[in-house]
Amino acid sequence: MNHNKIIIIGAGLSGLMTAYLLKKKGLEYIILEANSRIGGRIETVTGTSGSTMEMGATWFSNPHQHLLALLAELEISYFKQHTQGVSLFETMSFVPPQKFEISDAEESSYRIEGGTIKLIERLVDEVGVDTIRTETKVSSIKELSDCLEIIDSNGVVYLAAKVISTLPPHLLVQSITFEPSLSTSIQSLAKKTHTWMGESIKFAVEYKKPFWREQNYSGTLYSQASIIQEMYDHSNSDKSGFALKGFLNGGTYTLSQEERKEKVLLQLTKLYGDETANYIAYHEKVWREEPLTFLPYEQLVLGHENNGHPEYQKALLNNKLFLSGSETAVKNPGYMEGAIVAAKSIATHF
Ligand SMILES: Cc1cc2nc3c(=O)[nH]c(=O)nc-3n(C[C@H](O)[C@H](O)[C@H](O)COP(=O)(O)OP(=O)(O)OC[C@H]3O[C@@H](n4cnc5c(N)ncnc54)[C@H](O)[C@@H]3O)c2cc1C
Repeated sequence: MNHNKIIIIGAGLSGLMTAYLLKKKGLEYIILEANSRIGGRIETVTGTSGSTMEMGATWFSNPHQHLLALLAELEISYFKQHTQGVSLFETMSFVPPQKFEISDAEESSYRIEGGTIKLIERLVDEVGVDTIRTETKVSSIKELSDCLEIIDSNGVVYLAAKVISTLPPHLLVQSITFEPSLSTSIQSLAKKTHTWMGESIKFAVEYKKPFWREQNYSGTLYSQASIIQEMYDHSNSDKSGFALKGFLNGGTYTLSQEERKEKVLLQLTKLYGDETANYIAYHEKVWREEPLTFLPYEQLVLGHENNGHPEYQKALLNNKLFLSGSETAVKNPGYMEGAIVAAKSIATHF
């Protein structure tokens, strides 16, 4: 049996940032992560051409001051999202798309050079890869007199004086059993707390060259008419790889990947011409099929509903269990900024 001072559940941005802050305070911790992959809702895929494509978190902007400060501290570079050229807005499938240009005066969105995964990799360097137990899915938490007993899905038992969960609250109450049970009010609140982007489908199409830029298109597309709902140029900042990337209509999770891909290429060909067919690879991620992020809600839960709720700021199980994760943040919940805000708030308890 392992006896620990602090256990952090989840090695996404919140869990890693919490560990980073605890380490700065000289505290000992371990992180239990169910997946074999570290990063949670941050996942960068590198294509065969070297193109780095975000299947999860991508953009941030100047109001995200905690994230910008962290990037500066960890010496991680970022760059402005490419928006120059003609952008398209499809309102209906039977009318041509409206064309518009995005003004330079608009608030810029930024992306991390080399992919958002760079932030995760730098934090892992800081917190120590040896403190992270991957493929360790917490299945139950029991309160003992002076500590919490955690059991993982392999039956391994851990004891900890304090436990910080960074799971989205809805996932936490659906996938971990508690003894004694959490109060019915916190359970019903968590069941009605939205997990940001949990229902989303991301896609990317990788190309040898940015043919859309050559035709003076920005690669930005908004559509209410077809499978791609939102899309942007997703080329690497150093022009070492090129892609178009965005979100598909979430309802198309019922289709097969081949069916979605066919519809994506059809829409792109209609808008940008035959060069669309000369792609290197098609990538996608259906987040609602990731049970370590999303489980279906019992009832309709609106985007960001109950995010940052005051109840999440209170410790549970006699000050032994803390709820964290982006959805608990009092500012910018659901976003990377929220994950950092939540970690900073939890760290003040230690
Ligand atoms: C498609 C998509 C696009 C996004 N785009 C943006 C964007 O452009 N900008 C932005 O700011 N944010 C964006 N986000 C949101 C951003 O990714 C999240 O806010 C942030 O990554 C959340 O970090 P977290 O650590 O709080 O949660 P998570 O990343 O969800 O981490 C939770 C961790 O807990 C692990 N876990 C789950 N169950 C267990 C268990 N039982 N035991 C142990 N471990 C467990 C999971 O595997 C995961 O690693 C996007 C998210 C998605 C999915």
